[in-house]
Order: sequence, then C-alpha cells, then structure tokens
Amino acid sequence: MNNNYYCIQCHKLHLRIYSVEENVLKSGFHFVDSNLYSVGICNKLEENQKSHLLIPSEE
Ligand SMILES: [Zn+2]
Repeated sequence: MNNNYYCIQCHKLHLRIYSVEENVLKSGFHFVDSNLYSVGICNKLEENQKSHLLIPSEE
C-alpha cells in the first residue's frame, strides 16, 4: 500500500499528507506506471491559477 494519490489539478502524483486542503476521491482511480492510485485534488493552486480553474467545494 502507499499514500500517494493522483492529483487531477496538477496531473501528477502527490504524497497524501491528510491535510484539510486535500480532497481524495473514494471512487476515483488512475493508473500511473502500472500502479493504481486514488484520484484526488490537492487544492494548492497559485492565485493566478485559481482564476481559471475553480473547483466547487463539496462536503
Ligand atoms: Zn496537486
């Protein structure tokens, strides 16, 4: 097992640190180099990126 997830914002793997900004989906998965990772969103965008990539906040 690993704690990495595939970030659909950055399009790369992140180490999951269980911060409040992270939103790792329970039902989304993505293959990277034949390994299956959970799909998530790190929500750590630069301010200039937020202007054109808005993610609705859902509980
Ligand atoms: Zn990311």
